[in-house]
Amino acid sequence: MLKVYFINPKSGLESFSYELPLNICQLISCIKNKDFIEKIGVLDLEFDENDINLIDSIENSDNTIFCIPIYTYYSEETINLCKAIKRTKDLVKIVVGGPHATLVGENLLRDNTEIDFVLQGEGDYSLPELLRAINFSDAYNQVNGLIYRDESNNVLKTGEFDRIEDISCLPLQTKGFEYFNLKKVKDKIGFLPYISSRGCSYNCIFCSSSNIWKRKLKLIPASTVIKEIEYIKSLGFNYINFRDDFFTANNKWLDSLLSGLKDLGIVWGCETRIDAVNDDLLFRMKESGCELLRFGIETFNQKSLDIIGKKFKADLAVENLKKVIDMGFYEIRCSFMVGIPGESVDDVKNTISICRQLKSMKSRFWALAPVIGTEIYNNMEKYGIKFINQVFNSTYSNIETTSMTNTEINNLLEFIYDEFKHPLTYYHRDFSDIIVN
Ligand code: SF4
Repeated sequence: MLKVYFINPKSGLESFSYELPLNICQLISCIKNKDFIEKIGVLDLEFDENDINLIDSIENSDNTIFCIPIYTYYSEETINLCKAIKRTKDLVKIVVGGPHATLVGENLLRDNTEIDFVLQGEGDYSLPELLRAINFSDAYNQVNGLIYRDESNNVLKTGEFDRIEDISCLPLQTKGFEYFNLKKVKDKIGFLPYISSRGCSYNCIFCSSSNIWKRKLKLIPASTVIKEIEYIKSLGFNYINFRDDFFTANNKWLDSLLSGLKDLGIVWGCETRIDAVNDDLLFRMKESGCELLRFGIETFNQKSLDIIGKKFKADLAVENLKKVIDMGFYEIRCSFMVGIPGESVDDVKNTISICRQLKSMKSRFWALAPVIGTEIYNNMEKYGIKFINQVFNSTYSNIETTSMTNTEINNLLEFIYDEFKHPLTYYHRDFSDIIVN
């Protein structure tokens, strides 16, 4: 019988940015009724770093499994955590998954002997399969998306991971909520996130979504989402942050969802594409409780939008943003990037001046940081980009382009942060002020 501990690693951002880790909730829900699992525990280091001390009390046994998601921006810290665990608990097994593991899986296992297994893609089926194989000492070669070592320490991969075709019959993410201290989350953070769809069908060159989700969008049935939100409401949360990549992608699904949300009387927020909203939809979203809208605009320069593959027109983005502003949403957040291939200082200044005109939206500027596994990272030369250093933080740039030096990019960012505030000041306050009001 296995004892399985999930660790939500510490991001290093202030705790105010905390969101309940839905990926862990979902995986718990997928394994909680398995008869070969004796215990499930959660160490939520992002919520309370003191949870790290709980590791000492966990048994050093080959029946003890740690499951840890890895994110590119703090992958090094998470790998160090794996090393620290193995220093005192050499018998336990460490399974890593999540976006970074999906993007760089084989290298991750090859370079880090303290990691025993890498699971790529969605773990809903593969994690229970892997745990079953560990418990019964079965072969691992049937586990989808698994990278592991054989007895001679060769790194093996069970093949390219598949997307789950039908996510409607998966266990529910809320079934994992009970493993977290929701009372403290309510008191300190006040809202819960929820994922109602997985993936995005677009292929922007700087985004890892297409590699992780293979450009397929999968929806949880609207009726299920509504039941889940109803349950979340019954827990005392009236604010929901939808974490979908592209919330308004499917009109029919959205119609049912919006009428259900309206009946529930909650406040909610989401992220979507600026070309996927219109007057009627915005009205219905507002009417059903939407108060926080996030858009990834990146730039108002058409040439740059075409290069990064956003596939919308700059004019349409401005026109639709005006509609969003007129509709009176409590908060509209748009993100922009500095360091887009071919974009000059003047191009960025043009974007800044349009942001100034669209006063009631919050503009959040980031440094374009080529994330491992993305189109832009894989083809730096083609896009005329060079790394200056390997410090990835997206607040300050670590690249230069053919049209801007690294100093020019960072001077622009300094200038922008003075006027528009540091991007993390927005990141840190999802819903907080809405709740206070
Ligand atoms: S940036 Fe947004 S629209 Fe583009 S691929 Fe990523 S999730 Fe999809």
